[in-house]
Amino acid sequence: MKVLVAVKRVVDYNVKVRVKADNSGVDLANVKMSMNPFCEIAVEEAVRLKEKGVATEIVAVSVGPTAAQEQLRTALALGADRAILVESNEELNSLAIAKALKAVVDKEQPQLVILGKQAIDSDNNQTGQMLAALSGYAQGTFASKVEVAGDKVNVTREIDGGLQTVALALPAIVTTDLRLNEPRYASLPNIMKAKKKPLDVVTPDALGVSTASTVKTVKVEAPAARSAGVMVKSVAELVEKLKNEAKVI
Ligand code: AMP
Repeated sequence: MKVLVAVKRVVDYNVKVRVKADNSGVDLANVKMSMNPFCEIAVEEAVRLKEKGVATEIVAVSVGPTAAQEQLRTALALGADRAILVESNEELNSLAIAKALKAVVDKEQPQLVILGKQAIDSDNNQTGQMLAALSGYAQGTFASKVEVAGDKVNVTREIDGGLQTVALALPAIVTTDLRLNEPRYASLPNIMKAKKKPLDVVTPDALGVSTASTVKTVKVEAPAARSAGVMVKSVAELVEKLKNEAKVI
């Protein structure tokens, strides 16, 4: 079974992001970039499926600038067999990304596509759902357990009230939640081996996909600074402040 994993290059989760002076976006100059954490979980799940003998090939795909090759190399070091970069330097919205991924899905015909539930930069939480709609594949989002059984995949989903398990006919789309697995680190020998694994670069044009944006970012602002907290000396003082200052009781 071929598994396709979507990997996004994002600002590293340890970085305190800064807004550009002209409020046009987040300042990416000299900022550490990494694989989106939920995509790391997606790669790990694909690798575990391969280790179990369920997956036979893992293809990592990213849509973005040339530099996204770094995150694809990381996916290769973690266990993906080959990688595809759909190269674009434009600001891409989720629909454009989903269309590019759909074109790769059409070409590669994977049985399972694993994406993160959410990219930590734009917090959209919609690419997997859009890809499912465009490709007509079943979708199991927010997965905390994935079990392939014959021509089905059982996906346990984290929902508000608890857990829900859905049985999806393959081919299917899965998006990963935090508790699905704990991603491994790439070993140095595997990082070296990854340099020799195939990484194809294609353009959206070559895939017949338009990346023209239907969404324009009007303004990006940092959240308002929070005022400092105070230490209270007694429960009585806390209750007094909650009543008279915060007015919440
Ligand atoms: P989002 O819908 O933007 O929150 O992203 C959810 C997931 O979609 C990510 O974790 C990735 O697996 C995938 N994804 C989003 N953007 C890209 C991209 N530019 N290239 C590859 N995969 C992406």
